[in-house]
Amino acid sequence: MTSPAPVVLAFLDPAYPDGRVADASKPQLLVTDLGVTRGDGVFETMLAVGGTVRKMQAHLDRLAGSAAALDLEIPDQQAWRRVIAAAVARHRLENPPADPAADELVVKLVVTRGVEGAPTPTAWVQATPAGAAGRRQRETGIDVILLDRGYDSDVADRAPWLLLGAKTLSYAVNMAALRHAHKQGADDVIFFSSDGRVLEGPTSTVLLAHVEKSDDGTTVKRLITPQLDSGILAGTSQGALFAAAKAAGWELGYGPLEPRDLMDADAVWLISSVRLLAPVNRIDGKEIGTPALQKELTAELGELFAGIQ
Ligand code: PLP
Repeated sequence: MTSPAPVVLAFLDPAYPDGRVADASKPQLLVTDLGVTRGDGVFETMLAVGGTVRKMQAHLDRLAGSAAALDLEIPDQQAWRRVIAAAVARHRLENPPADPAADELVVKLVVTRGVEGAPTPTAWVQATPAGAAGRRQRETGIDVILLDRGYDSDVADRAPWLLLGAKTLSYAVNMAALRHAHKQGADDVIFFSSDGRVLEGPTSTVLLAHVEKSDDGTTVKRLITPQLDSGILAGTSQGALFAAAKAAGWELGYGPLEPRDLMDADAVWLISSVRLLAPVNRIDGKEIGTPALQKELTAELGELFAGIQ
C-alpha cells in the first residue's frame, strides 16, 4: 500500500502570523461552514518549484478579484504571503525533496464565507507534492473532447451572478465534465458556448498556434487564446506565457475562436499552473496539426514558460 502524500495545512488566523498549522489527517472544518454546505468561497492553485511559488502576485490578484465578485472579504496579500512561505518551507523541511527534478509542490489557497452566522471567512493554505499525472500529460500530450457549456459567450456580462470569471469553490460541474470525458476514453475537455465559441477547459486555458511563411520568407508564429470576455477564467499561465512569447517575437491573438479553428491549428494546448503546457493530440478523435511541428512548438513554448517566475 502506498502511504498518503504528505500535506502541510495552515489556517490564516490573526493570532498566528505564519499560519495556524493543523493536522490535515484530522477533521478541521465545521459542517456548517458555507464552503462545505454551499460551495460559497474562492480558491487558487499554484505551483512551487524548488520552494518558490510561480506567478504568486498574479494568483493573489486573481484571488482578490474572485473574492470581490462574491462580495467576500478575505485576508490581505501580506498575510497570504507569510502563510504560503511558511507552509512551503515547512513542507520541504519535513519532506526533503529526493529528486531535484521533481521538486514541485501544489499550493492551494482556499477561502470560504465561513461558518453559518459567523462574520469571518475560513481561510487556509495547503501544500502537497505535485503528482506525476501533470508531468505525464506534458510529455505524452492529451486527447480531448468538445462539450457544450450550455450558455452563450455574452452571458458573463448579462448575468454577473453566475460568477463566470471567478475561481469559485463550485467546481462540481467542471469535475462532472472531466468524468464524462474519462468515460469516453478522453483525458480532458474543451468547452464551447451555445453560440459556437471555444471557451476553456474545466481546469485550464485553451491555446492554439499557427505558423506561416510570410512573402519575404520569414516565419510568423501566432499564439491565440479565446477572448477573456466570453465568460472564462483569466488564466495566470496564459497571461505569463503570452508576455514571454511576445518578447520572443510571437504574434498574439484573442479569439473569438470556433471549434474548426482548433481543428485547423498547427498545434493546440491546454495550459494551467500545475500541469503546465499539455499538447492536445486529438480533439473528438481527430488528429491536430502535425506531430513534428507540434513537438517543436511545444518545446519552444515550454522553455519560455519554464523561465517564468
Ligand atoms: N480555466 C479554469 C476554469 C481553471 O480552473 C484554470 C485553473 O485551474 C485555468 C483556466 C488556468 O488557470 P491558471 O493558468 O491560472 O492555473
